[in-house]
Formats: sequence, structure tokens, C-alpha cells
Amino acid sequence: MKKIGITGGIGSGKTTVARVFEQLGIPVYHADYWAKEIMNTEPLVIERLKELFGNSIYDSNGKADRKRIAEIVFADKNKLNELNSVIHPAVWLHGENWLKQHHDKPYILKEAAILFESGGNKGVDKVIMVSAPEEIRLERVMKRDNATPEEVTARMANQWDDEKKIALSDFVIVNDDRQLVIPQVLEIHSRLTNAHQK
Ligand code: ATP
Repeated sequence: MKKIGITGGIGSGKTTVARVFEQLGIPVYHADYWAKEIMNTEPLVIERLKELFGNSIYDSNGKADRKRIAEIVFADKNKLNELNSVIHPAVWLHGENWLKQHHDKPYILKEAAILFESGGNKGVDKVIMVSAPEEIRLERVMKRDNATPEEVTARMANQWDDEKKIALSDFVIVNDDRQLVIPQVLEIHSRLTNAHQK
């Protein structure tokens, strides 16, 4: 079974595109979702995050204050690196366990916003990059998250630009509100499924 990474910058539509693959019966591991869950549930991760950000980063219900963490790491690259070095191995391990349930599938997808930036691309067989122009991504995220342009641009600044990621990817899906997405997904699905049968 092949492991396929699916990535794209904020607002590129990777979750939306991944949903189309799910409709085709392909399991999708949502690394960004699980990263948030693990922050609140995995004792070793909680301990390390308290060391990094102080005990008050967790509220009385044991939930991490992600807004506060985001503010700290956007202002301090070292803290961002340390945060990543705690979260990414924990998510990776969780993902490998998840994978064991899906050995009957031709391939699975791992969806992650910062697949390349985190080095997660090294653990997958191929990468699908979802690409969209920056103006469109900005508009989508402002609308989805009720965010200001400054907030979205700050989040984009921690991600590589599309050109760099496209050059390193095996497949590209253009999700620019012009090109149809479903035929692009079907083409990749067919190539990945045929490769599996050979
Ligand atoms: P993030 O990295 O922030 O999680 P993402 O890449 O997963 O973002 P989505 O959440 O899938 O992006 O998409 C961003 C927003 O744009 C969503 O509100 C989604 O519904 C919308 N969107 C994405 N693709 C399309 C499309 N082809 N047509 C219409 N709306 C779209």
C-alpha cells in the first residue's frame, strides 16, 4: 500500500480536495486535525508543551490555548521549531498506527499543510500538491475563518511558496476556481490505482 502526501498552502483547498478522494473510498489521515487533538490528549506532549510555554497554556479543562501558542511561535522562530519537534514525531507515530487499519486499500492519503516544511514528505511515497493563487487563498481563508488579511498573510509567511513545493511534488491539482477539480482527482486516482495493480 502506498502512502501519498497531500499538501498545499493555507486556503489552497487541500481538505476540500482530500474529501473527493474520500468519496472514492481512499482513507485520509488529517495530520493537522490530529496535531490539535494530540496536544490535548498525549501526556508526554502536554508535559513538553507546558515546559515550553508555561502551565497556563492549558485551561482548567486541559485544553491547550492554541491562539496563544500561535502568537508566541509567530514571534519566535526558535519556539516554532521546538513546537514542531514535539508535535511532528507524535503525529507521525499516531499516523503510522492509523495506517495499520487500512492495509487493504490501494493507497492512503496523509493531508498536512506543512508536509515539506516539516520533512514529512520523506515518509511518503508520492506527494500531491494542491495549488491556488495567493489572492484566492487569502480570500477563502478570510471568509472561512473570519480573519483579517494581516492574520492570513502572517500564517502564509511560515509556509513555502507554491513554486518551491510544486517542483518537489509528483502530482499537482490546480484549485483556482477555474479548472475543474474532480477530473484532476480522477486522473491521479486512476494512475495510483493502476500502479497498485501492476
Ligand atoms: P488550511 O490549510 O487552512 O486548512 P485548506 O488548504 O485545507 O486550508 P480548505 O479548508 O479545503 O483549504 O479550503 C479553504 C476554503 O475554501 C474552505 O472554506 C473551502 O470550502 C473553500 N474552497 C476550497 N476549494 C474550493 C473550491 N474549489 N470551490 C469553492 N470553495 C472552495
